[in-house]
Amino acid sequence: MELDSLYQEIILDHYKHPRGKGLLELPQGSAHHVNPTCGDEITVQVSTNAEGGLEIGYEGQGCSISQASASVLTELLTGSSVDQSQTVREAFIELMHAQGQGEPDEDVLGDAVAFAGVAKFPARVKCALLAWMALQDAEIKAGMLSKGDGS
Ligand code: ZN
Repeated sequence: MELDSLYQEIILDHYKHPRGKGLLELPQGSAHHVNPTCGDEITVQVSTNAEGGLEIGYEGQGCSISQASASVLTELLTGSSVDQSQTVREAFIELMHAQGQGEPDEDVLGDAVAFAGVAKFPARVKCALLAWMALQDAEIKAGMLSKGDGS
């Protein structure tokens, strides 16, 4: 199977079977982001558990890329530290700005490597990044990050 079609399968699987979808009972931070050019919407919420691991909840609607990306993010970053989420987010943003030339590190990015091909289509990059930027905003609102970090 070609890498591109494998990646498409991963994205489609997350779209059809979203992981961790739903809002948190007691979010510490919440952010609603929209991508008007595509009609995507996402609300991402965060809190931390007693061990400092992230709990992430989300709700949204829109294209398969935006919704699959939220599912991948939630699966990947639930339980990780705020610092780890920052590292993974930076790697993902870099990949999405690599115009399809990036060499994604699967150890860091997990299923998010599947979006490497999306980076070739500038109009879809915003779809893929929507949930990630909403998470950053939610972390700022929760006081987990200071403004300006990681941008
Ligand atoms: Zn979209």
